[in-house]
Amino acid sequence: MPHASPQLAAALDVLTTLRAAGHEAYLAGGCVRDLLLGRDPTDYDVATSATPDIVLQMFPRTFAVGAHFGVVLVADQPENPSEESAPPQVATEVATFRSDGVYSDGRHPDQVRYTLSPSEDVQRRDFTINGLLLDPLRIAPELSSQDLRPAVLDHIGGLADLDAGLIRAIGDPVRRFEEDQLRLLRAVRFAARFSFEIEPVTFAAVRQLAPRIRSVSHERVRDELTKMLTEGRARRAFELLHSTGLLAEVLPEVARMPGVAQPPQFHPEGDVWIHTLLLLDQLQPGCSPTLAWGALLHDVGKPPTFRAAPDRIRFDGHVEVGVALAADICRRFRFSNDDTRQVLVLVEHHMRFADTPRMRASTLKRFFRLEKFDEHLALHKMDCLAAHGNLDCWNFVRQRLAELPAEAVRPRPLLTGRELIAAGYPPGPAFKDMLQAAEDAQLEGTVATETEALALIRARFGPAHVEA
Ligand code: ATP
Ligand code: MG
Repeated sequence: MPHASPQLAAALDVLTTLRAAGHEAYLAGGCVRDLLLGRDPTDYDVATSATPDIVLQMFPRTFAVGAHFGVVLVADQPENPSEESAPPQVATEVATFRSDGVYSDGRHPDQVRYTLSPSEDVQRRDFTINGLLLDPLRIAPELSSQDLRPAVLDHIGGLADLDAGLIRAIGDPVRRFEEDQLRLLRAVRFAARFSFEIEPVTFAAVRQLAPRIRSVSHERVRDELTKMLTEGRARRAFELLHSTGLLAEVLPEVARMPGVAQPPQFHPEGDVWIHTLLLLDQLQPGCSPTLAWGALLHDVGKPPTFRAAPDRIRFDGHVEVGVALAADICRRFRFSNDDTRQVLVLVEHHMRFADTPRMRASTLKRFFRLEKFDEHLALHKMDCLAAHGNLDCWNFVRQRLAELPAEAVRPRPLLTGRELIAAGYPPGPAFKDMLQAAEDAQLEGTVATETEALALIRARFGPAHVEA
């Protein structure tokens, strides 16, 4: 098997123990798919004929995480017994073979029925490539992904779809999406992640039921979208969201982008949607979620501000409108306050790079002080490469950042309120302007000492006794 990871070793231990006690047990679902594709699975799931009660009894450290659905987490044994209560390093999810009853809430089966039949179990899984079982005890541990095939139990045609690169629902697609509407987004996510096609009948069912995605909680939709944005191939994921009709349901603000023309002299690539897709194309696997959402939403203010002015197409106020729309989206999707702030600040400042070569030193340094400035820089680079390709401003900013020591960007202030009071100024609202003026001059390099800064304050705001 590809890389013998601690997770795999733990899953094999669990399997061996279950088998030794006379139960059926296999690796199941996403990990089998990933092993066959030669990818490293993120986690290993075991499917077994043993009921949750039995699994809970058989292993010393267990957590009944989804006991209702027959899922038990089996943790590895701590080497030191005094760490018994410490969180497990490696845990294997063990799910009892089951068939799911009716789904009346569009998300969870009303009841599950345990079964001894692995072929019944795979029928409840979503897509054929996610419905494969693997008996790893039948093969030598160091075998490659091709050689795993004889150990695969394929009850649903998953191997053929894996070879053909197809996402196909198990059973009747319409029924399967009606049961659980999150599967609509999962179909898109897996198709994008593996560069697979969605099989035509499954695709038609996604299109037909796309409006039903609204019954899935905003948090779950957000998590799926964030995965699509940060797993690599975000462009393909968003093309599929668009062509299935899901985009208009989950992000109507973004679904307005196609067909919104841009001035060709600045955007030779085409309309706002093409431009946005070209940004998404540059998002690397594992990239920061806030950067990814910032890239998706940076021009979300363009469709509502489009205007064919006499000279050229204009988007007056698109940044402000974009910030407001992005705020609505972050609120709707229940982003954390920190993530919301970062996404909004990315949208708000994305046009400022063009001004950087002409900025006063104090303005530039304040710009550099933005939290996670590397994300601003990365967004600007993607924005340029998705349009005219001119990286002059990006290079200018990188060069200035490299030249400026941290204390030049964020020097210790020469003055605080305390020095102003000591100099005889009464505390009041004017302090803010005074301190800002002193800091500006410090950042410009026109004052370097407290005495010089106070002289500047006297010259600009009048001597202390006049105000007193
Ligand atoms: P990932 O690599 O993203 O974790 P995965 O296939 O492992 O992909 P999980 O969400 O971890 O996906 O689920 C594990 C397995 O459980 C899936 O492979 C699939 O067999 C089954 N499964 C998960 N979610 C659903 C669902 N909504 N409907 C039906 N089966 C599901
Ligand atoms: Mg998984």
